Amino acid sequence: MTDIQRLDDRTVERIAAGEVVERPASVVKELVENAIDADATRVEVVVEAGGTDGIRVTDDGVGMDREAVETAVEKHTTSKIRDIADLEGGVGTLGFRGEALHAIGAVSRLTIRTRPRGGDVGTELVLEGGDVTSVSPAGCPEGTTMAVEDLFYNVPARRKYLKQESTEFAHVNTVVASYALANPDVAVSLTHGDRETFSTTGQGDLRETVMSVYGREVAESMISVGAGSEANADGDESDSFPDGPLDGVHGLVSHPETNRAGREYLSTYVNGRYVRAGTVRDAVVDAYGTQIAPDRYPFAVLFLDVPAGDVDVNVHPRKMEVRFADDEGVREQVRTAVEDALLREGLLRSTAPRG
Ligand code: ADP
Ligand code: MG
Repeated sequence: MTDIQRLDDRTVERIAAGEVVERPASVVKELVENAIDADATRVEVVVEAGGTDGIRVTDDGVGMDREAVETAVEKHTTSKIRDIADLEGGVGTLGFRGEALHAIGAVSRLTIRTRPRGGDVGTELVLEGGDVTSVSPAGCPEGTTMAVEDLFYNVPARRKYLKQESTEFAHVNTVVASYALANPDVAVSLTHGDRETFSTTGQGDLRETVMSVYGREVAESMISVGAGSEANADGDESDSFPDGPLDGVHGLVSHPETNRAGREYLSTYVNGRYVRAGTVRDAVVDAYGTQIAPDRYPFAVLFLDVPAGDVDVNVHPRKMEVRFADDEGVREQVRTAVEDALLREGLLRSTAPRG
């Protein structure tokens, strides 16, 4: 006996929203990406109870007028691409799917306050469980504040799966740190309850940003990595950087003695986009050889330049994964770049076997 029924729109919507918004950290990721895409020079993230009781992201970006914000919260609306052709060759923005705001609004109470740059009126729009419950003029500074309350109040199954506040906050912290590190020219701050976790200056220096995010000890232990195109420009390209899919690898990695038990301090970026790439993390760890205990991990902030055709960032952007056309090649190049940096500092024996 089969009884096949069409799901009602509300149900479909919440199931879809659940794929975009898994937990407070995924809300924070989407809102911070939107702020950066909006050309912000300052992004402030404030969360309550690990993000389970409230998330507020404020930026000084381009803002929206009333019509724009009313459109932005609808399904599949974006100002970032027009059609599939715009995706060829890679997009310049972090977002382009036009689903995040709609999804967040469907599973929470979302209040948006926004004023366009140079505009003289602001707008406040409130969305509750997917319904716009009010839109009104509001006094607010240029830029945008997104305030999310009661996340998953209408998806009890999802609410139940939220972890302890400290665990949820750890994920939020990892996300905000990653975006802060990738954008040294944006002043990013994270506050949990009434305690500021970190804030960066937005002055544009990677090492200084590492200091703001991870502290002085870590920042001072960081070693520069530069191989491929970037290093070429500086005229100090290492001879051993092998040919492969990557045009270049650059950034900072820590002295082997500065390590931690978790992998969350390995921040990797592909063409400026924060990704969780197992291949890249493994390659970094490999480079340290026996200099780090097997259950310990270094700090790293590594930027990979990959020609658009050699990487697929569409695999699962919500999970921040990527797929490389030539995984082995990427692994080899990243490991070599990090090894060379460590060797240069005398932190590896040059006879260390290469896997
Ligand atoms: P996407 O980022 O994929 O375009 P979103 O649902 O995240 O989709 O956002 C929809 C649209 O709302 C964006 O394309 C942008 O025009 C606008 N928007 C969202 N957040 C902001 C912000 N902080 N400042 C200015 N505009 C924003
Ligand atoms: Mg977005």
